[in-house]
Amino acid sequence: MYNELGISEEVVNLTKKAEETLAHQFKEIDEICDYNSLKVLNAFLKNKVSEIHFGSTTGYGYNDVGRETIEKVFADVLEAEDALVRNQFISGTHALTVALFAFLRPGDTMLSITGKPYDTLEEVIGIKENASSLKSYNIKYEQIDLINDDFDCEGITKRLEGPKVKLITIQRSKGYSTRKSISLEQLEKVIKIIREIDKEVIIMIDNCYCEFVREREPLSVGADIIVGSLIKNLGGGLAPNGGYIAGRKDLVALAAERLTVPGGGKEVGPTLGINKSLLQGLFFAPSVVASSLKTAVLVSKLLEDEGYKVEPKYNEKRVDIVQTIEFGDKEKMIKYCQGIQAASPIDSFVLPIPCDMPGYQDQIVMASGSFIQGSSIELSCDGPVRPPYVAYMQGGLTYQYGKLSVMKAIENIKK
Ligand SMILES: *Cc1c(COP(=O)(O)O)cnc(C)c1O
Repeated sequence: MYNELGISEEVVNLTKKAEETLAHQFKEIDEICDYNSLKVLNAFLKNKVSEIHFGSTTGYGYNDVGRETIEKVFADVLEAEDALVRNQFISGTHALTVALFAFLRPGDTMLSITGKPYDTLEEVIGIKENASSLKSYNIKYEQIDLINDDFDCEGITKRLEGPKVKLITIQRSKGYSTRKSISLEQLEKVIKIIREIDKEVIIMIDNCYCEFVREREPLSVGADIIVGSLIKNLGGGLAPNGGYIAGRKDLVALAAERLTVPGGGKEVGPTLGINKSLLQGLFFAPSVVASSLKTAVLVSKLLEDEGYKVEPKYNEKRVDIVQTIEFGDKEKMIKYCQGIQAASPIDSFVLPIPCDMPGYQDQIVMASGSFIQGSSIELSCDGPVRPPYVAYMQGGLTYQYGKLSVMKAIENIKK
């Protein structure tokens, strides 16, 4: 059957050998999964989730008890005062955009302390010109770069002692950069430093890809608001779309009034039949994140053994589900992505080739043979086609399927 999938005995044996060395990492991942499953189950019990919450609304979406319960469950899981969990968010970028436009006013300054933010935010902020950017509303943007993959605490302190900053944004996951992702310990430390100088500045976290990777989430270390996508970790592969904004109640209310209408806020928003998927997705999410992590650990080990530069290494503590592989070679990067696609359940017969994508500056190659379009909690592998040709791999609904796709991709670069 491996033969039928085009996987050689050599790759089967390499994989078996690698797996034998990963028992310790897998056990650690399972322990975190235990903990997060407990957290989710407790939130379901506390909020008395019941079949009535699988109901649906249309039109304005008034009095949707399912939606309200989902938001309470998410808030409990994330240790938030309140949460906005909606299918009206088109993507993670949209949720981040709604948050920024909700919290900032003309004349305000926002400050990124993790350097340049995710590619798709460049036009939102106005780093790249766009007539609808924050910049077009006279909202100023500044950034402080990381130093050796950690916060520039001196630079941050100096800046906060200067003219008023309204909002600090921190992106935990690396996006399409080659830096390391930001751990909760690093976050805790920098938030302490920020709060010593400024008690009011809004601390907003782009939490994409980080949920359930460890035991704690950013609100527990003093962040004000966290934002993420439901076609990533918390959707558990079942949420058909959507995003979330969670944290301080007053900020969640502002975000709701920006997403819907001033005066409508959280009270409106039809759920169109997705409530059960969101609840069941969250229920699966700890396990799905664990499967993704195991797939990432396996890739890290296998490709390091093959001589590629990988980040993180298989035995490093992980912050998100993203595994980067530096191919240093355009053809190899593309071949690897094509291999992932070729062993995906959906569209296995399609050949991904680099092309322009809205919101991105470089050509992107993207393997995503997923049940939900663009879902990256399902195994996907992508990256901008520019030196040093780094592929970003993430997701895996089950470890077994993740492993098979990875074997196929390795076969593809060996050929
Ligand atoms: C995925 C991601 C986003 C949002 O991306 P969408 O494709 O718009 O959902 C934002 N920031 C980071 C770090 C991400 O990984």
